[in-house]
This record gives sequence, structure tokens and C-alpha cells, in this order.
Amino acid sequence: MTVSLDLTAEGARDALRARSTEKPSLIGLTRAELGEALVGAGIVPERQAKMRAQQLWHWMYVRGVSDFAHMFNISKDLRAALDKHFTVARPEIVEEQISSDGTRKWLFRFPPRGAGRPVEIETVYIPEEGRGTLCISSQVGCTLTCSFCHTGTQKLVRNLTTEEILAQLLTARDRLGDFPDRDTPDGAIVPAEGRKVSNIVMMGMGEPLYNFEAVKKALLIASDGDGLSLSKRRITLSTSGVVPEIARTGEEIGVMLAISLHATNDDLRDLLVPINKKFPLKELIAACKAYPGLSNAKRITFEYVMLKDVNDSLDDAKALVKLLKGIPAKINLIPFNPWPGTNYQCSDWETIEKFADYINNAGYASPIRTPRGRDILAACGQLKSESERMRKVDRLALEAMMIAGHGEA
Ligand code: SAH
Ligand code: SF4
Repeated sequence: MTVSLDLTAEGARDALRARSTEKPSLIGLTRAELGEALVGAGIVPERQAKMRAQQLWHWMYVRGVSDFAHMFNISKDLRAALDKHFTVARPEIVEEQISSDGTRKWLFRFPPRGAGRPVEIETVYIPEEGRGTLCISSQVGCTLTCSFCHTGTQKLVRNLTTEEILAQLLTARDRLGDFPDRDTPDGAIVPAEGRKVSNIVMMGMGEPLYNFEAVKKALLIASDGDGLSLSKRRITLSTSGVVPEIARTGEEIGVMLAISLHATNDDLRDLLVPINKKFPLKELIAACKAYPGLSNAKRITFEYVMLKDVNDSLDDAKALVKLLKGIPAKINLIPFNPWPGTNYQCSDWETIEKFADYINNAGYASPIRTPRGRDILAACGQLKSESERMRKVDRLALEAMMIAGHGEA
């Protein structure tokens, strides 16, 4: 059973708020920038900047407040001044879908930011025993053209801002009652203990390393110990292989890395993941081996989509094990998630199991998990800006659930 919530009233309110807020958001600024913004607006004296920035930080990221009016330890006058100049409001939620297995999918609308039209992106939440994972987008569309990826058929519209990347996390936590003093909605399927959103994966739309600065800032705020406080071990960034930014990801962000590998030789990888022509396997593997902080306790996840008769033979499995030799690695086998118009098919279940057995015997745990959110088509790599209807036969095929298995439980 799928539940689609009617957010009309709420959506309209958000839209109104969005329209009335040409004001800059305070979400996504560093503490120093926050202080500068307050002083720059002339509403906080220089000597109070640090203290006020800290106060706001707590309200925005620990308490999850989206309205200055609720910041009770700030004077009424200052709250009014803040509201005049800035916003901390959430984006417009166009749609929220809830799958019978508890998977949730939101369609968010963000303003155009300059020329063009407003943009829409999807964010997915997958609850499991012991953890809840949020799959976040970094761009609207993608400049890359991986041949099996639906996002790859869409042109890049624009990069998401730091605020928009964080807004996906903040709004998901709002909707799940995952801030202090908030209630989880009745009947929601969430982890039995701990935080509702315990892990995040940058595996929605877009190539995060082509939006490096915004992604870096957002992930540093998400992992800030005095704020959103997500452990960097529970944040995974997935890249198609933008080699020059891989070392920086480890050094400057320090999160877990996932590589969309999908092929073990350059000829095939050139076809599946065309960025390989620019940064071939040899360079990619060298960058992985040199990933800062890499150890058996901090492994790289290699994603490998199972495409029937393309990359799913036992020889491919052998080549995969050989290629990854010496790298502390996890392998994530992803059943291909078909989309209308694709020429690829998902490998047979038997083939996937044989492939997985080989890899397991070589010492890699490579769980293939039950596809999730099937009834609402919620799978990463499958996120799209328009909710396009899929044919039933496509829908009945395996839907990928590659999030499972990323980050710590
Ligand atoms: N752009 C980044 C992150 C987003 S995609 C990247 O490519 O890594 C997240 C994962 O889903 C990637 O491994 C991607 O290759 C995979 N993917 C894309 N389309 C898919 C599909 N139709 N079925 C299964 N996996 C897919
Ligand atoms: Fe872009 Fe990743 Fe899709 Fe490739 S797989 S087109 S990099 S979103």
C-alpha cells in the first residue's frame, strides 16, 4: 500500500513562505559567515557576533527550528530583526510518498536562483533495523552520461546550494520527528532506537564531486559535533570517479567514499561510465589506494550494477576481485533498476547470487538486500525531477536498493 500525503495546505503555506522570502537563508553558512551576516545587517554588534552565531547554530541544527519566532532565548526585538533580514524556513514540499515498508520519498521544489524555472529534486529515506538512511541529491540533473543511469539522460540544470543540500536533511528530520521535543508521526516505520536519520549517502541526483565546495560545506555542517552531529563514519559520498577531487574528499571532508565502478576494464567502463575516458581505471584505483584515512576499519565501497550479459559473468567477478586486491574494500552489488527507454536489463537473480558467492568466497561481504520502496519507485540512481510513470512490467523487475550496506549500522 502506498500512502501519498496531501500536502496542499501545508505546501501552499510553504510556497507562500518561499515567495515572501527573497531573504537570504542562514542555513548553510559557517559560524564565521553567520556572525558576519548578522553584523553586516546591522542587527548585532560586532562583540556579540560569535555568541549570537552560536545561539542560532544551536536553534537551527540541534533543535531544528525553522522559524525565528521559536528561538525563545533571543529577545523579541532581535527575533523580529532577524526575520526582517533573513530566513531559516524549509523548502516547499511538493509531494511526500510513504511506502508500505516505511521508505519515504519527498519531492522538493527550490527557487530558480537566477535565470530559469524553479527546480525539483527527490530525497529518499530508508528505515532499517538499527539505522535510517537518507539519500541526498547534490545537483539537479548531471553533466555525466552514464549509459545505465536515468539521471544521465537529463541535462544538468544547476548545482544545489549548501542550503539546499542541508534542507533535504533538515526537512526529512522534521517530517520524521527526528529533532528533540518532536513526535514521530503515528505509525511511521523508523529504527527502534536512536536517531531516525542515522546515516546519509550522497547518492541521489548528480555528481557530488562536480559540486565540491557546496557539498563539502554541507557535509561539514551535517557532521559538526555541536549541531547536526552525524558521525563522518555514517556519511558516504558516492562518485563516478572524479579522480582529482578524491584525495580532497578524504582530506577536507573526511567522509566514507563509494566509487561507482561497474566495470573492471577500460573498454567497458568507457561505455558505462564515460568519465572513465578522462580518468581511466589505473588512475582511479591509484586514487583509491591513496585515499586519506583508508584502513580495514574504514573501507571504500565499490558499487557494481548488475547488467545482464554486460558485466555479470564469473570472469567479471574474478576480474573485480583482482582489480581490488590490496584495497580495503566493500563491494555493493546493485540489481539494475530499469527505466523506460533503457536498453539494459537486470541480471537474473541466479547470476547475481553466483557473482556474489564468488566475491564472498574471496573474502568480501557483499550483501544483496531486498529491494526497498518498490511501490513508490524509491531507489537511488533512479531519482528524477519528474515523477514519470513506469510500466508495470518494469516496476515488477528488481528495483535497486544500493543504499543498504553503506556506512556503519
Ligand atoms: N553520481 C554519483 C552518485 C549518484 S548515483 C555516482 O555516480 O556515483 C548512485 C549510484 O546508483 C551509482 O553507483 C550509480 O552508478 C547507480 N545507478 C545509477 N542508475 C542506476 C540504475 N538504473 N540502477 C542501478 N544503479 C544505478
Ligand atoms: Fe551522473 Fe552518477 Fe548517474 Fe553517472 S551514475 S549519470 S555520475 S548521477
